[in-house]
Amino acid sequence: MNINIQRTEKPRPKPDDSNLQFGKIFTDHMFVMDYNPEQGWHDARIVPYGPLNYDPATAVFHYGQAIFEGMKAYAAPDGSIQLFRPEENMRRLNQSNDRICIPPVDEGFALEAVKTLVDVDRDWVPQAEGTSLYIRPFIIATDAFLGLRVSQTYQFIIILSPVAAYYPQGINPVNIYVETEYVRAVRGGTGYAKTAGNYAASLKAQQKAAAKGYVQVLWLDGVEQKYVEEVGAMNVFFQIGDEVITPPLEGSILPGITRESVMELLRSWNVQVSERRLSMEELSQAYKDGQLVEAFGTGTAAVISPIGELCWGSEIIKISEETGPLAKRLYSTLTGIQTGAEADPFGWIVKL
Ligand SMILES: *Cc1c(COP(=O)(O)O)cnc(C)c1O
Repeated sequence: MNINIQRTEKPRPKPDDSNLQFGKIFTDHMFVMDYNPEQGWHDARIVPYGPLNYDPATAVFHYGQAIFEGMKAYAAPDGSIQLFRPEENMRRLNQSNDRICIPPVDEGFALEAVKTLVDVDRDWVPQAEGTSLYIRPFIIATDAFLGLRVSQTYQFIIILSPVAAYYPQGINPVNIYVETEYVRAVRGGTGYAKTAGNYAASLKAQQKAAAKGYVQVLWLDGVEQKYVEEVGAMNVFFQIGDEVITPPLEGSILPGITRESVMELLRSWNVQVSERRLSMEELSQAYKDGQLVEAFGTGTAAVISPIGELCWGSEIIKISEETGPLAKRLYSTLTGIQTGAEADPFGWIVKL
């Protein structure tokens, strides 16, 4: 399939690299592709960025049949633009599609669409240290029909947003509220899919934690509320003694690409990594025994987000006021590879 490119006649002024935020400013162009049962995915095009126009009965507004991805492009010192493991995002896009009955996209073509769009807007990739171009592919159900059923038609859209460095003041631990009332996902549900409804469902707990002065929520399993699952929209790792533990992918946890990369890095450093269930009881006991060494979240936005303390009911588990050595090393290695400051021994980078 060809990608038809219609360039804007009114390029917008680019923001100052040193004054970016997250997800507020968008580039000159967007990618759009349609689906219907007769033609499959068709009419792939890059058009000027702008508002979309939908019938009020459009399925996605009512029943949330929508999925998304999140990835970043970085300006490398050699003048190229680097994507980090983008094939993994396209694979996960189809896993999310499958869970909520959206027809699959051709993963190779979807990656081609990302690369072509980033190339068209390559002048928008910010250059300042720590900044990047955030890439947001998403798919929505577009039938104008109020009946609850699988939509017949869809749109696949990609938009781009230059974003600020996540840690302008340097990487520092954040405090986390362990949520014991609301749950994010259960096994058999949609937790492993990047589908819109999961995030709507998480807002209430996020708001509650914020009101108590915490930056993020630590989610527990949806069945017993006993085992650790994720922190906000990040995967989570705990170091107890010499063992680094992250919860296993059993359907309720989002399979993070940063999570996977962290495990591969740790193994390459001969650090013992376990994907296993970890209860709050075990964490609390490890803390009391002086064995809880480090904790951090992982995700595309922050890469590594160290955890300072956990508030679990009446208990405060103080991990550290400073970023631990493992989190520091992971952060500098991963961001080094992503930005091209360091070599890529794993073959994770796609250049354009
Ligand atoms: C996107 C996401 C992650 C992190 O995935 P990455 O591929 O590492 O960015 C973790 N948890 C949730 C709930 C997410 O939505």
